[in-house]
Amino acid sequence: MKYIPYGQHSIDAGDIKAVVNVLNSDFITQGPVVPQFEDAIANYSGAKGCVVVNSATSALHIAYLSLGLGPGDYLWTSPNTFVATANSALHCGAKIDFVDIDHESYNMSIESLKLKLEFAEKNGSLPKIVVPVHFAGQPCDMKAIWQLSQRYNFRIVEDASHAIGATYLDAKVGSCAYSDVTVFSFHPVKIITTGEGGAATSNDQTLLDRMRRLSGHGLIRDHNFMESRPDDEIWNYQQIELGFNYRMTDLQAALGLSQLKRLDSFVDKRRELARVYDNCLADLPVVVPVQDPKSVSSYHLYPLQVLQSGCQLSQKHLFARLHDLGIGVNLHYVPVHRQPYFEKLGFKLGDFPNAEAFYRAAMSLPMFSHLQPADQTRVVDALHHLIL
Ligand SMILES: *Cc1c(COP(=O)(O)O)cnc(C)c1O
Repeated sequence: MKYIPYGQHSIDAGDIKAVVNVLNSDFITQGPVVPQFEDAIANYSGAKGCVVVNSATSALHIAYLSLGLGPGDYLWTSPNTFVATANSALHCGAKIDFVDIDHESYNMSIESLKLKLEFAEKNGSLPKIVVPVHFAGQPCDMKAIWQLSQRYNFRIVEDASHAIGATYLDAKVGSCAYSDVTVFSFHPVKIITTGEGGAATSNDQTLLDRMRRLSGHGLIRDHNFMESRPDDEIWNYQQIELGFNYRMTDLQAALGLSQLKRLDSFVDKRRELARVYDNCLADLPVVVPVQDPKSVSSYHLYPLQVLQSGCQLSQKHLFARLHDLGIGVNLHYVPVHRQPYFEKLGFKLGDFPNAEAFYRAAMSLPMFSHLQPADQTRVVDALHHLIL
């Protein structure tokens, strides 16, 4: 029986040719394709510029550092995310806190954010950065978060690892209309891939320059900005701050550039598959994802909630039985604050009840652009068989 994963990359002949072309060229890294890929992402998303790096985790790290996050600062994000969103803040020496999620969108709740900000203002613990995560590809209500940022003076990084190709208020996610930086991931389970890879878009040239510098050891090559040294010495570059080697290769950028051309067709296909799930699961005691009218999801995931009251099996048993049937459902996410490492930082069960309740019911169904109709039917039939 064929195993159906929850997510999978799609590589075609054009993608392969693009990578082979780079292998046959003069540069396999730091050549011409990386800036081409950066321009293409900026054009697609409508942002002023883009910096590509070796992962979304790296992109988050340099975005946070460029916004000045450091020891003594707070960064707030959603507990319903991959650990990287929070970890990159800890790597800056900052303190992490979470804002509970909304029942319908599974994104950071605007109401909870408001209340937490009011409280934090009183006890002097306002965040420097808030990181909304566009869970499953559904954009957060960025305008509302931006309005709060004006009142409480915080910066905004969008973790759009799930959401390249999604739209919010008729603009593409990544346009940064209501944020300082937007981060994308190109890991193979995400919507487009470079093997490993990530990107940060922004409309702020100073931030773009700083992120680029941090991704390359903190070096500059422009003599106008170098410190003066004796005239008879040769200086090709100067290190002016401490950075990292977070570079993307031209091999990866070529794959990404080719994949970006296929992005809209990938997202269209995901939306079609989501409509099929919506219709075929309507008779089950499950909650299907709700589409916010302000936005269009890119459906990185199709997160279902299985209501225990109507289901024969516990969530854990349902998972096991589906895997027995070759259906690779997955769980997004164990709330970050419940990870042992984060519990040692002081978080505990009960801190973010909505995220915890969602996790106890959640199940991500197979969702990728080349999921075949017969395979999707297998998933739908198995759910009916096991739940009813
Ligand atoms: C995948 C993911 C990341 C990390 O992406 P990498 O490219 O693997 O570093 C960060 N945040 C979210 C929400 C993700 O899904």
